[in-house]
Amino acid sequence: MDIHEHQAKDLLRRFNVPVPDGGIAFTPEQAAHEARQLGFPVVVKAQVHAGGRGAAGGVKLCRNEAELSAFAASLLGRNLVTKQTDAQGKPVHRLLVEQATDIGQELYLGLVLDRKSERIMIVASREGGIEIEDLAEEKPDALLRMVIDPATGLVPFQARELAFGLGMQGNQVAQFETVMRGCYRAFRDLDATMVEINPLVITAPGHLVALDAKMSFDTNALFRRPEVAALRDPGQEDPREDAAAEHGLNYVGLEGDIGCIINGAGLAMATMDMIQLAGGAPANFLDIGGGASPERVVAAFRTVLSDPNVSVVLVNIFAGINRCDWVAQGVVDAYRELDLNMPVVVRLAGTNVEEGQRIIASSELPMMTAETLAEAATIAVAARPRLAA
Ligand code: GDP
Ligand code: MN
Repeated sequence: MDIHEHQAKDLLRRFNVPVPDGGIAFTPEQAAHEARQLGFPVVVKAQVHAGGRGAAGGVKLCRNEAELSAFAASLLGRNLVTKQTDAQGKPVHRLLVEQATDIGQELYLGLVLDRKSERIMIVASREGGIEIEDLAEEKPDALLRMVIDPATGLVPFQARELAFGLGMQGNQVAQFETVMRGCYRAFRDLDATMVEINPLVITAPGHLVALDAKMSFDTNALFRRPEVAALRDPGQEDPREDAAAEHGLNYVGLEGDIGCIINGAGLAMATMDMIQLAGGAPANFLDIGGGASPERVVAAFRTVLSDPNVSVVLVNIFAGINRCDWVAQGVVDAYRELDLNMPVVVRLAGTNVEEGQRIIASSELPMMTAETLAEAATIAVAARPRLAA
């Protein structure tokens, strides 16, 4: 789960990470009020769950109230499209108004859960402000990496080593230790999966400040972090994924046109690969989970069909805990209830498969069936309506 920059800064502030003074605004009037409290110049920043806002016009230094009001009015209520969003962008409903910072140098600091080493890994660089993916590609040597041993936690000499690696001297080293310790503690104590400060700034007078902040959290740990769970902003999430989650479905929207209804994450991924191999493109990842009732299968159809790009539906079930007859009943119900008018390919295997196939056949609905995964993918790809040449 992602949170907004202003929320991440509020959390990090509690762990002694220095962040600029600021306030949140939902209207241009509130933004002006915040700015008057702070004193001009201020920086106004669109709060969306995506980076790359600076380059997309979502961050602006405002010197007076007229400039600020015009900028706030132009941003609020519309979608901001950045390099990290899709073509639709993310809606801007709140702005962060902050005291402007006089930047001396921009650095990069990130903490991620490195699944390979099963440790928290710190990534730092003297080259801040640029996105980490670009940095890793263009200047891989500019990245410093350090792995934290969970038995000892972050040890002070590690923070100092990074500070020296970043070219710090004098009391900046101690300031960096404070930032580093705060980020590490926040990461660990709040069950984060990512903390990113980009840029971490050395101000002209020589102070360290987290100018931007991004945090992601382990959704499986939210049950024990109610104060983090409360920071969720559904307005920033894919509404299709939201609706799916309510039915116990695991859905991720993609760009293709073959809608997928599968049980099991592994089989879902294998099915997506087989579709690609057959020359098609999946419209989504969807795992209906174990013990899916006919109702849940209908909900799965509804979710998949809410994507206007879908032109074929592929149902692929290898039933262990699931029952093919329940799934088949769900497919038949969905076909009738949702008035389906597109090709549906069904491949069933496993528990109660004969009964499942009998339900499909006796429905006399125009569905295509397949014996194997490869066959199902090939049929689905071939069944797509041909685009006019
Ligand atoms: P992002 O583009 O979404 O990552 O948004 P950031 O918060 O990182 O802001 C983008 C850029 O705007 C930063 O890299 C800075 O160069 C600039 N910026 C943000 N806040 C300030 C500020 O207070 N003063 C100055 N001079 N520049 C700022
Ligand atoms: Mn940034």
